[in-house]
Amino acid sequence: MTPQQSVVLRLGDSGPAVTAVCERLVLSGDLPPGREHTDASGDAVYDERVEQAVKSFQQRRGLIVDGIVGRSTYAVLDGARWTLGDRVLRYLPEHFVEGDDVVALQARLAELGFTPGKVDGLHGPSTDSALRAFQAAVGLVPDGTVGPETMRAFAGLRRSVSGGSANALREREQIRRSGFSLSGRTIVLDPGHGGRDPGAHGRHGLVESRLALDLARRIEGRLSAHGVNVVFTRTEATDPGTDEERAAFANSCDADLVLSLHTDHSVTGSAHGAATYFYGHPDSPGRADWSVIGESFADLLLREVVARTGLTDCRSHARTWPLLRRTRMPAVRLDFGYLSHGGDAAALADTQTLDHVAEAVVVALQRVYLGDADTSRTGVLRLDDLRRHLEMMRSQQLGDGTAG
Ligand SMILES: [Zn+2]
Repeated sequence: MTPQQSVVLRLGDSGPAVTAVCERLVLSGDLPPGREHTDASGDAVYDERVEQAVKSFQQRRGLIVDGIVGRSTYAVLDGARWTLGDRVLRYLPEHFVEGDDVVALQARLAELGFTPGKVDGLHGPSTDSALRAFQAAVGLVPDGTVGPETMRAFAGLRRSVSGGSANALREREQIRRSGFSLSGRTIVLDPGHGGRDPGAHGRHGLVESRLALDLARRIEGRLSAHGVNVVFTRTEATDPGTDEERAAFANSCDADLVLSLHTDHSVTGSAHGAATYFYGHPDSPGRADWSVIGESFADLLLREVVARTGLTDCRSHARTWPLLRRTRMPAVRLDFGYLSHGGDAAALADTQTLDHVAEAVVVALQRVYLGDADTSRTGVLRLDDLRRHLEMMRSQQLGDGTAG
Protein backbone atom coordinates (compact mmCIF):
# COMPACT_ATOMS: atom_id res chain seq x y z
CA MET A 1 0.00 0.00 0.00
CA THR A 2 2.20 2.81 -1.28
CA PRO A 3 0.96 6.31 -2.11
CA GLN A 4 1.63 5.65 -5.79
CA GLN A 5 -0.89 2.85 -6.01
CA SER A 6 -3.80 3.59 -8.29
CA VAL A 7 -6.03 0.66 -7.30
CA VAL A 8 -9.64 1.57 -6.58
CA LEU A 9 -11.18 -0.32 -3.67
CA ARG A 10 -14.90 -0.78 -3.23
CA LEU A 11 -17.67 -2.93 -1.76
CA GLY A 12 -17.00 -6.63 -2.32
CA ASP A 13 -13.21 -6.35 -2.63
CA SER A 14 -10.81 -8.12 -0.29
CA GLY A 15 -7.07 -8.51 0.09
CA PRO A 16 -4.05 -6.91 1.80
CA ALA A 17 -4.95 -3.43 0.48
CA VAL A 18 -8.40 -3.68 2.10
CA THR A 19 -6.74 -4.80 5.35
CA ALA A 20 -4.52 -1.72 5.23
CA VAL A 21 -7.51 0.54 4.57
CA CYS A 22 -9.33 -0.97 7.55
CA GLU A 23 -6.31 -0.32 9.79
CA ARG A 24 -6.33 3.34 8.76
CA LEU A 25 -10.08 3.60 9.37
CA VAL A 26 -9.65 2.19 12.87
CA LEU A 27 -6.90 4.77 13.54
CA SER A 28 -9.10 7.60 12.24
CA GLY A 29 -11.90 6.43 14.54
CA ASP A 30 -14.32 5.67 11.71
CA LEU A 31 -14.24 1.89 12.04
CA PRO A 32 -14.70 0.32 15.49
CA PRO A 33 -11.66 -1.79 16.34
CA GLY A 34 -12.30 -5.52 16.34
CA ARG A 35 -12.53 -8.30 13.89
CA GLU A 36 -13.26 -7.31 10.31
CA HIS A 37 -14.79 -9.98 8.13
CA THR A 38 -11.96 -11.87 6.49
CA ASP A 39 -11.62 -13.98 3.36
CA ALA A 40 -10.04 -17.41 3.04
CA SER A 41 -6.48 -16.01 3.16
CA GLY A 42 -7.19 -13.93 6.27
CA ASP A 43 -7.44 -10.56 4.53
CA ALA A 44 -10.17 -8.07 5.35
CA VAL A 45 -13.34 -7.91 3.25
CA TYR A 46 -14.73 -4.56 2.06
CA ASP A 47 -18.24 -5.09 3.42
CA GLU A 48 -21.07 -2.64 4.21
CA ARG A 49 -19.50 -1.80 7.54
CA VAL A 50 -16.24 -0.77 5.86
CA GLU A 51 -18.13 1.13 3.18
CA GLN A 52 -20.01 3.04 5.88
CA ALA A 53 -16.74 3.86 7.65
CA VAL A 54 -15.23 5.14 4.38
CA LYS A 55 -18.29 7.34 3.85
CA SER A 56 -18.09 8.82 7.32
CA PHE A 57 -14.35 9.52 6.81
CA GLN A 58 -15.09 11.15 3.42
CA GLN A 59 -17.89 13.21 4.95
CA ARG A 60 -15.64 14.58 7.69
CA ARG A 61 -12.83 15.36 5.31
CA GLY A 62 -14.93 17.09 2.67
CA LEU A 63 -14.24 14.42 0.04
CA ILE A 64 -16.85 13.11 -2.38
CA VAL A 65 -18.95 10.72 -0.28
CA ASP A 66 -19.15 7.62 -2.47
CA GLY A 67 -17.85 4.92 -0.14
CA ILE A 68 -15.09 4.07 -2.63
CA VAL A 69 -11.38 4.35 -1.86
CA GLY A 70 -9.96 6.02 -4.98
CA ARG A 71 -6.81 8.08 -5.31
CA SER A 72 -8.00 11.18 -3.39
CA THR A 73 -9.55 9.28 -0.49
CA TYR A 74 -6.51 7.04 -0.28
CA ALA A 75 -4.10 9.97 -0.08
CA VAL A 76 -6.05 11.67 2.71
CA LEU A 77 -6.63 8.39 4.53
CA ASP A 78 -2.96 7.47 4.37
CA GLY A 79 -1.89 10.92 5.59
CA ALA A 80 -4.40 10.97 8.44
CA ARG A 81 -2.41 8.62 10.66
CA TRP A 82 0.45 11.06 11.22
CA THR A 83 0.58 13.73 13.89
CA LEU A 84 3.39 16.28 13.98
CA GLY A 85 6.47 14.76 15.58
CA ASP A 86 5.63 11.15 14.67
CA ARG A 87 8.15 11.09 11.87
CA VAL A 88 10.98 13.23 10.56
CA LEU A 89 9.68 15.57 7.87
CA ARG A 90 11.65 17.06 5.05
CA TYR A 91 11.13 18.28 1.51
CA LEU A 92 11.55 15.60 -1.15
CA PRO A 93 11.37 17.22 -4.60
CA GLU A 94 10.51 13.97 -6.42
CA HIS A 95 7.57 13.09 -4.19
CA PHE A 96 6.06 15.56 -1.71
CA VAL A 97 5.46 14.06 1.73
CA GLU A 98 1.75 14.28 2.49
CA GLY A 99 -0.17 13.99 5.72
CA ASP A 100 -1.91 15.57 8.66
CA ASP A 101 1.46 16.19 10.32
CA VAL A 102 2.40 18.37 7.33
CA VAL A 103 -0.90 20.25 7.79
CA ALA A 104 0.04 20.85 11.44
CA LEU A 105 3.55 21.99 10.43
CA GLN A 106 2.19 24.41 7.84
CA ALA A 107 -0.43 25.80 10.23
CA ARG A 108 2.25 26.27 12.91
CA LEU A 109 4.59 28.08 10.48
CA ALA A 110 1.74 30.30 9.31
CA GLU A 111 0.76 31.13 12.88
CA LEU A 112 4.33 32.16 13.61
CA GLY A 113 4.34 34.54 10.67
CA PHE A 114 6.21 32.42 8.12
CA THR A 115 4.58 31.68 4.80
CA PRO A 116 4.39 27.99 3.93
CA GLY A 117 1.97 28.53 1.01
CA LYS A 118 -1.47 26.98 1.18
CA VAL A 119 -2.03 24.72 4.20
CA ASP A 120 -2.63 21.67 2.04
CA GLY A 121 -0.76 18.85 3.78
CA LEU A 122 1.82 18.64 0.98
CA HIS A 123 5.43 19.31 1.93
CA GLY A 124 6.41 21.33 -1.15
CA PRO A 125 9.08 23.97 -1.84
CA SER A 126 7.24 26.85 -0.12
CA THR A 127 6.80 24.80 3.06
CA ASP A 128 10.50 23.97 2.85
CA SER A 129 11.60 27.58 2.58
CA ALA A 130 9.22 28.71 5.36
CA LEU A 131 10.62 25.95 7.57
CA ARG A 132 14.22 26.96 6.85
CA ALA A 133 13.39 30.62 7.53
CA PHE A 134 11.85 29.59 10.85
CA GLN A 135 14.91 27.51 11.78
CA ALA A 136 17.25 30.37 10.95
CA ALA A 137 15.10 32.80 12.96
CA VAL A 138 15.30 30.68 16.11
CA GLY A 139 19.04 30.01 15.73
CA LEU A 140 18.90 26.44 14.46
CA VAL A 141 20.78 25.08 11.48
CA PRO A 142 18.35 25.77 8.61
CA ASP A 143 18.48 22.20 7.29
CA GLY A 144 14.79 21.96 6.39
CA THR A 145 14.37 18.87 8.56
CA VAL A 146 11.70 18.64 11.25
CA GLY A 147 13.51 16.57 13.86
CA PRO A 148 13.59 16.72 17.66
CA GLU A 149 15.36 20.13 17.80
CA THR A 150 12.84 21.85 15.56
CA MET A 151 9.99 20.23 17.50
CA ARG A 152 11.48 21.61 20.74
CA ALA A 153 11.71 25.06 19.17
CA PHE A 154 8.02 24.88 18.22
CA ALA A 155 7.07 23.77 21.72
CA GLY A 156 9.00 26.66 23.28
CA LEU A 157 7.25 29.32 21.27
CA ARG A 158 3.93 30.79 22.16
CA ARG A 159 1.38 31.26 19.43
CA SER A 160 1.83 34.75 18.05
CA VAL A 161 -1.56 34.76 16.39
CA SER A 162 -4.40 32.31 16.69
CA GLY A 163 -6.05 29.99 14.24
CA GLY A 164 -6.81 30.86 10.68
CA SER A 165 -6.23 34.56 10.93
CA ALA A 166 -2.66 34.15 9.68
CA ASN A 167 -3.90 32.47 6.53
CA ALA A 168 -6.54 35.13 6.00
CA LEU A 169 -4.07 37.94 6.61
CA ARG A 170 -1.56 36.47 4.21
CA GLU A 171 -4.04 36.03 1.37
CA ARG A 172 -5.41 39.54 1.88
CA GLU A 173 -1.90 40.96 2.07
CA GLN A 174 -1.04 39.33 -1.27
CA ILE A 175 -4.02 41.00 -2.89
CA ARG A 176 -3.33 44.35 -1.23
CA ARG A 177 0.26 44.28 -2.43
CA SER A 178 -0.70 43.45 -6.00
CA GLY A 179 -3.18 46.33 -6.16
CA PHE A 180 -6.89 46.81 -6.70
CA SER A 181 -7.10 45.83 -10.32
CA LEU A 182 -7.72 42.93 -12.64
CA SER A 183 -5.26 44.14 -15.23
CA GLY A 184 -2.03 42.17 -15.38
CA ARG A 185 -3.38 39.19 -13.45
CA THR A 186 -3.29 35.62 -14.68
CA ILE A 187 -6.51 33.62 -14.37
CA VAL A 188 -6.61 29.94 -15.23
CA LEU A 189 -9.97 28.76 -16.60
CA ASP A 190 -10.62 25.06 -16.30
CA PRO A 191 -13.50 23.84 -18.48
CA GLY A 192 -14.50 20.55 -16.83
CA HIS A 193 -14.02 17.15 -18.53
CA GLY A 194 -12.98 17.05 -22.21
CA GLY A 195 -11.16 14.61 -24.47
CA ARG A 196 -12.88 11.24 -24.23
CA ASP A 197 -14.86 12.39 -21.17
CA PRO A 198 -17.86 14.49 -22.22
CA GLY A 199 -19.18 14.87 -18.65
CA ALA A 200 -22.93 14.97 -18.18
CA HIS A 201 -25.43 14.87 -21.05
CA GLY A 202 -28.69 16.73 -20.70
CA ARG A 203 -31.82 17.96 -22.34
CA HIS A 204 -31.71 20.09 -25.47
CA GLY A 205 -28.67 18.06 -26.60
CA LEU A 206 -26.46 19.79 -24.07
CA VAL A 207 -23.08 18.25 -23.25
CA GLU A 208 -21.24 19.42 -20.13
CA SER A 209 -17.71 19.50 -21.59
CA ARG A 210 -18.82 21.60 -24.60
CA LEU A 211 -20.94 23.92 -22.50
CA ALA A 212 -18.07 24.49 -20.04
CA LEU A 213 -15.71 25.35 -22.90
CA ASP A 214 -18.28 27.67 -24.48
CA LEU A 215 -18.70 29.50 -21.16
CA ALA A 216 -14.91 29.66 -20.67
CA ARG A 217 -14.52 31.38 -24.06
CA ARG A 218 -17.17 33.96 -23.16
CA ILE A 219 -15.37 34.65 -19.88
CA GLU A 220 -12.03 34.85 -21.67
CA GLY A 221 -13.31 37.50 -24.08
CA ARG A 222 -14.47 39.73 -21.25
CA LEU A 223 -11.40 39.23 -19.07
CA SER A 224 -8.98 39.87 -21.93
CA ALA A 225 -10.70 43.20 -22.48
CA HIS A 226 -9.73 44.03 -18.88
CA GLY A 227 -6.07 43.21 -19.47
CA VAL A 228 -6.24 39.81 -17.79
CA ASN A 229 -3.97 37.05 -19.03
CA VAL A 230 -6.33 34.07 -19.46
CA VAL A 231 -4.98 30.53 -19.67
CA PHE A 232 -7.10 27.43 -20.41
CA THR A 233 -6.38 24.00 -18.92
CA ARG A 234 -7.76 22.48 -22.11
CA THR A 235 -9.39 23.17 -25.47
CA GLU A 236 -11.26 20.68 -27.70
CA ALA A 237 -7.99 19.51 -29.15
CA THR A 238 -5.92 18.95 -26.03
CA ASP A 239 -5.90 16.02 -23.65
CA PRO A 240 -7.52 17.34 -20.47
CA GLY A 241 -5.65 15.31 -17.83
CA THR A 242 -6.69 14.57 -14.26
CA ASP A 243 -7.64 17.23 -11.72
CA GLU A 244 -4.20 16.75 -10.13
CA GLU A 245 -2.55 17.49 -13.49
CA ARG A 246 -4.78 20.52 -14.03
CA ALA A 247 -3.79 21.81 -10.58
CA ALA A 248 -0.09 21.28 -11.37
CA PHE A 249 -0.59 23.16 -14.64
CA ALA A 250 -2.18 26.12 -12.81
CA ASN A 251 0.75 26.13 -10.40
CA SER A 252 3.20 26.16 -13.31
CA CYS A 253 1.39 29.24 -14.71
CA ASP A 254 1.82 31.00 -11.37
CA ALA A 255 -1.83 32.04 -11.73
CA ASP A 256 -3.58 34.46 -9.36
CA LEU A 257 -6.74 32.40 -9.35
CA VAL A 258 -8.24 29.25 -10.87
CA LEU A 259 -11.86 28.90 -11.91
CA SER A 260 -13.17 25.45 -12.78
CA LEU A 261 -16.43 25.20 -14.72
CA HIS A 262 -18.88 22.32 -14.49
CA THR A 263 -22.58 21.61 -14.69
CA ASP A 264 -24.35 19.24 -12.34
CA HIS A 265 -26.54 16.22 -13.03
CA SER A 266 -28.97 14.22 -10.91
CA VAL A 267 -30.68 10.91 -11.49
CA THR A 268 -34.12 12.05 -10.41
CA GLY A 269 -34.10 15.17 -12.59
CA SER A 270 -35.63 17.31 -9.87
CA ALA A 271 -32.43 18.86 -8.49
CA HIS A 272 -31.63 22.28 -9.93
CA GLY A 273 -29.59 25.40 -9.31
CA ALA A 274 -26.01 26.67 -9.14
CA ALA A 275 -23.34 26.05 -6.48
CA THR A 276 -19.73 27.05 -5.87
CA TYR A 277 -16.89 25.22 -4.12
CA PHE A 278 -13.68 26.54 -2.58
CA TYR A 279 -10.77 25.00 -0.67
CA GLY A 280 -11.50 24.37 2.99
CA HIS A 281 -10.98 21.58 5.47
CA PRO A 282 -14.17 21.15 7.54
CA ASP A 283 -12.19 19.85 10.56
CA SER A 284 -9.69 22.67 10.41
CA PRO A 285 -9.29 24.22 13.87
CA GLY A 286 -9.86 27.97 13.68
CA ARG A 287 -10.13 27.60 9.91
CA ALA A 288 -6.33 27.54 9.54
CA ASP A 289 -6.81 25.15 6.67
CA TRP A 290 -9.14 27.31 4.64
CA SER A 291 -8.87 29.61 1.63
CA VAL A 292 -10.40 32.89 2.69
CA ILE A 293 -10.11 34.46 -0.74
CA GLY A 294 -11.47 31.27 -2.30
CA GLU A 295 -14.48 31.45 0.00
CA SER A 296 -14.97 35.13 -0.65
CA PHE A 297 -14.81 34.67 -4.45
CA ALA A 298 -17.07 31.60 -4.29
CA ASP A 299 -19.69 33.57 -2.33
CA LEU A 300 -19.54 36.65 -4.53
CA LEU A 301 -19.59 34.62 -7.73
CA LEU A 302 -22.61 32.58 -6.71
CA ARG A 303 -24.52 35.68 -5.65
CA GLU A 304 -23.79 37.36 -8.98
CA VAL A 305 -24.67 34.24 -10.99
CA VAL A 306 -27.96 33.72 -9.15
CA ALA A 307 -28.95 37.38 -9.43
CA ARG A 308 -28.20 37.51 -13.16
CA THR A 309 -29.55 34.14 -14.32
CA GLY A 310 -32.37 33.26 -11.93
CA LEU A 311 -30.76 29.86 -11.25
CA THR A 312 -31.53 28.57 -7.74
CA ASP A 313 -28.93 29.31 -5.05
CA CYS A 314 -27.47 25.96 -3.93
CA ARG A 315 -24.92 27.78 -1.74
CA SER A 316 -21.14 27.67 -1.66
CA HIS A 317 -19.26 24.86 0.06
CA ALA A 318 -15.80 24.10 1.44
CA ARG A 319 -14.22 21.03 -0.16
CA THR A 320 -10.78 19.39 -0.31
CA TRP A 321 -11.07 18.10 -3.87
CA PRO A 322 -7.67 17.73 -5.60
CA LEU A 323 -8.12 20.73 -7.90
CA LEU A 324 -8.93 22.96 -4.93
CA ARG A 325 -6.35 21.40 -2.63
CA ARG A 326 -3.35 21.11 -4.89
CA THR A 327 -3.49 24.58 -6.39
CA ARG A 328 -1.25 27.08 -4.65
CA MET A 329 -3.59 29.98 -5.47
CA PRO A 330 -7.25 30.46 -4.57
CA ALA A 331 -9.32 28.05 -6.66
CA VAL A 332 -13.08 27.94 -7.08
CA ARG A 333 -15.34 25.54 -8.89
CA LEU A 334 -18.65 26.78 -10.29
CA ASP A 335 -21.45 24.31 -11.06
CA PHE A 336 -23.77 26.39 -13.23
CA GLY A 337 -27.05 24.47 -13.24
CA TYR A 338 -28.28 20.90 -13.66
CA LEU A 339 -28.37 19.53 -17.21
CA SER A 340 -30.86 16.91 -15.97
CA HIS A 341 -33.38 19.60 -15.00
CA GLY A 342 -35.84 20.93 -17.56
CA GLY A 343 -35.74 24.54 -16.40
CA ASP A 344 -31.97 24.73 -15.95
CA ALA A 345 -31.28 23.02 -19.29
CA ALA A 346 -33.65 25.36 -21.12
CA ALA A 347 -31.90 28.35 -19.55
CA LEU A 348 -28.44 27.02 -20.49
CA ALA A 349 -29.51 26.23 -24.06
CA ASP A 350 -29.99 30.01 -24.41
CA THR A 351 -26.56 31.55 -25.03
CA GLN A 352 -27.70 34.74 -23.29
CA THR A 353 -27.62 32.85 -19.99
CA LEU A 354 -23.98 31.92 -20.63
CA ASP A 355 -23.23 35.59 -21.29
CA HIS A 356 -24.84 36.47 -17.97
CA VAL A 357 -22.75 33.86 -16.16
CA ALA A 358 -19.62 35.18 -17.88
CA GLU A 359 -20.42 38.70 -16.78
CA ALA A 360 -21.05 37.44 -13.24
CA VAL A 361 -17.54 35.94 -13.22
CA VAL A 362 -15.93 39.22 -14.26
CA VAL A 363 -17.88 41.30 -11.75
CA ALA A 364 -17.18 38.82 -8.92
CA LEU A 365 -13.47 38.84 -9.76
CA GLN A 366 -13.36 42.60 -9.72
CA ARG A 367 -15.13 42.68 -6.38
CA VAL A 368 -12.64 40.21 -4.89
CA TYR A 369 -9.79 42.41 -6.04
CA LEU A 370 -11.47 45.50 -4.63
CA GLY A 371 -10.99 43.86 -1.23
CA ASP A 372 -13.45 44.53 1.56
CA ALA A 373 -14.18 48.05 0.36
CA ASP A 374 -17.23 47.09 -1.59
CA THR A 375 -19.87 44.79 -0.14
CA SER A 376 -22.90 46.67 -1.43
CA ARG A 377 -25.38 46.11 -4.19
CA THR A 378 -24.60 42.49 -4.99
CA GLY A 379 -26.14 41.33 -8.20
CA VAL A 380 -26.97 44.73 -9.62
CA LEU A 381 -23.49 46.07 -10.26
CA ARG A 382 -22.73 46.41 -13.93
CA LEU A 383 -19.24 46.60 -15.37
CA ASP A 384 -19.60 50.31 -15.99
CA ASP A 385 -20.60 50.90 -12.37
CA LEU A 386 -17.52 49.04 -11.27
CA ARG A 387 -15.23 51.03 -13.50
CA ARG A 388 -16.66 54.23 -12.01
CA HIS A 389 -16.32 52.79 -8.52
CA LEU A 390 -12.68 51.89 -9.14
CA GLU A 391 -11.89 55.37 -10.39
CA MET A 392 -13.55 56.78 -7.27
CA MET A 393 -11.47 54.54 -5.04
CA ARG A 394 -8.28 55.54 -6.80
CA SER A 395 -8.99 59.24 -6.47
CA GLN A 396 -9.84 58.69 -2.78
CA GLN A 397 -6.52 56.92 -2.26
CA LEU A 398 -4.71 59.84 -3.90
CA GLY A 399 -6.74 62.24 -1.76
CA ASP A 400 -5.84 60.37 1.45
CA GLY A 401 -2.18 61.10 0.91
CA THR A 402 -2.63 64.85 1.09
CA ALA A 403 -5.66 65.26 3.37
CA GLY A 404 -3.64 64.30 6.49
ZN1 LIG B 1 -18.49 17.87 -14.22
